[in-house]
Amino acid sequence: MLKYDYQYDLAAILITVVLFIVFQTRRAYATKANNTFMFVILCDLVAAIFDAISCYTITYPEQVPLAVNYIVSLGYLLFFNMMSVMYFMYIDSKAKITKNKRPAQIAAIISTTYYLVVILSSPWTKWVAYFSPSGEYLHGPLMATLYVIPFTMFIWEIAIFMIARRRFNKYQVVTSIAMIVGMGGSVMVQMIFERALIGTLVMAIIMIFAYLAYENPAYYTYEDTQCMNRHSFYEMLKKNAWKKDSISLLAFTIADFEYYHHSLGEHQLEQLSTRIADFLYQQFKRNAFCLSEDKYVVVLPHADCLEEYEKRIRAFIDTPISLSRRDVLINVHVCALKDLDRRFTADEVEAIVEYSLNNPQANLEAYEDIQQIIGNRVHRDMILRSIRRAIENDEFQVFYQPIYSTETKRFDSAEALIRLNDPELGFINPEELITLAEETGYIEQIGEIVFRKVCKFMKENAIHKYNVEYIEVNLSALQCVQENLTEIYAGIMEEYGIAPSAINLEITETAQTTKNANLMDNMQKLNAIGVEFSIDDYGSGFASANYLIELPVIIVKIDKSILWPAMKDARAMIVLKNTIKLLKELGKHIVVEGVETEEMVNILTECGCDSLQGYYFSKPVPPEQYLEFLRQRNFQ
Ligand code: C2E
Ligand code: CA
Ligand code: CA
Repeated sequence: MLKYDYQYDLAAILITVVLFIVFQTRRAYATKANNTFMFVILCDLVAAIFDAISCYTITYPEQVPLAVNYIVSLGYLLFFNMMSVMYFMYIDSKAKITKNKRPAQIAAIISTTYYLVVILSSPWTKWVAYFSPSGEYLHGPLMATLYVIPFTMFIWEIAIFMIARRRFNKYQVVTSIAMIVGMGGSVMVQMIFERALIGTLVMAIIMIFAYLAYENPAYYTYEDTQCMNRHSFYEMLKKNAWKKDSISLLAFTIADFEYYHHSLGEHQLEQLSTRIADFLYQQFKRNAFCLSEDKYVVVLPHADCLEEYEKRIRAFIDTPISLSRRDVLINVHVCALKDLDRRFTADEVEAIVEYSLNNPQANLEAYEDIQQIIGNRVHRDMILRSIRRAIENDEFQVFYQPIYSTETKRFDSAEALIRLNDPELGFINPEELITLAEETGYIEQIGEIVFRKVCKFMKENAIHKYNVEYIEVNLSALQCVQENLTEIYAGIMEEYGIAPSAINLEITETAQTTKNANLMDNMQKLNAIGVEFSIDDYGSGFASANYLIELPVIIVKIDKSILWPAMKDARAMIVLKNTIKLLKELGKHIVVEGVETEEMVNILTECGCDSLQGYYFSKPVPPEQYLEFLRQRNFQ
């Protein structure tokens, strides 16, 4: 009868073979890291094969040559132990703590050398394992040292997890701990129950979990399609997977995506992008990527395929796509990016793709165009970093620009304007700041921060004592449709004991083009508690008279783009005067912005404008300076 149970090893062989096949067929593309992972699986497979054979060779040593017996037993020891080294290398490459991979590489080389020397020399040195003259398999004095290496690597891995915490999720940490516990545990079990060779099986099972935790195909594909996702796209670029000197891409985006978003609803929209992703995978396999619901990119084998690929995509797009509730016919903007060469990093290629998808009309041919985009992106990233830091460290400031009343001849209101002074970039352009905050979703937080600062300022300085009736605060278009806006703003005013009538919220024309219902709702609720509204930048956008009638606003702020031309051109003056007339007839309180000269003041006062704002009186200034201004100018 066999001295050992070989069934465990057979099970391990079966599992690792299946795992290997699954891994190979579903792997997005080979990288150094996932190749290492594959070697861990292979080590276990080979170890299990040797181990299974050794059940026979050790039991019946007289039937096999001694050399074979050595090869089988030592082969098992070598491959089983090499797993921990491979796995360690894998974890280290995932952590990307430093660019310097030396320490880990040196540790791996030393360990491997040690294994090779002590294990392979055993037939002569009897260090690790050997066969007695009677053919009995025996352990040598250095057997225990083999386990020192996995243990050391385990400690090192724990350190990696602690340092690069963010790069690992908890499943990954748990499977890695299970790996070492399993390895140590199974060795101990084997010592106690000598027949039970469970080591390779335990490792095979743990590798299944490790596979799901680390190399799960779902991480690399879009939703439940096989099409690669944004993460894969980036990894592909970063791994420099394009072996040639340049890369050509065909990117496309769904035209009028916002429209489909509204008309189809979330669920149908998801179906739509799934259909597109499925089609792309069928056609282009792992060269196609779905970056988001409406953005896709295909890597071309070479620039010449462009036309043909585009034709294939068009053919698909030009037929209606059937969704569960209805068929839709969509249109796409296609952008071709030919021969982006290696000068560009992965980040830059991603920026270029992103830019061309957002600006499908732009025709990117020249290197300079692309450089500019990259420059803009870097600039944006810097501003974004500054915004994040300002939110964290409370670094935003609010400046105040006094607004002059032609009737009382005092500065009875002011506009609050955000300022962000970055140590490196200096004062960041507020328009750029606000636009970026809107795009990245920080606007709600920032709006609240500004509003809170204004209320605090008004309270701490008892601003009404300076003959200031109200402060105007800008409300971004996105905030206007924010669900809980009223509650938040009402809460802040209450916290500082600010009367709602001392606040005026400025909204821009664009605000009412999106989600009108929410806007009306917010305005009505805020109106009900006593907050008034102005329309900002009147005349700068697509002026539709409708909102003048529909929205509950009392103040209209005429934009400088109406005022300034009027100073140079008689016809523009007609426009200005009639704009004022129109607004007066509608009973609006008129504020004119961008008043820079005395001449402007005189004309506008004559025309009956109620309030004037501009550099002629004062630029936006810090709170202290604003108070000083009021002391000097409001008590005459
Ligand atoms: P806005 O609401 O139209 O603000 C008026 C802008 O015109 C301010 O620019 C102000 O400094 C500038 N200005 C005022 N008088 C004159 C003048 O006589 N001549 C010239 N050339 N400019 C004048 P600023 O502070 O750079 O703000 C730009 C825009 O950023 C604002 O335009 C507003 O849309 C946005 N913004 C500023 N602060 C906030 C905020 O707290 N929240 C939101 N949502 N947007 C803000
Ligand atoms: Ca404004
Ligand atoms: Ca304005």
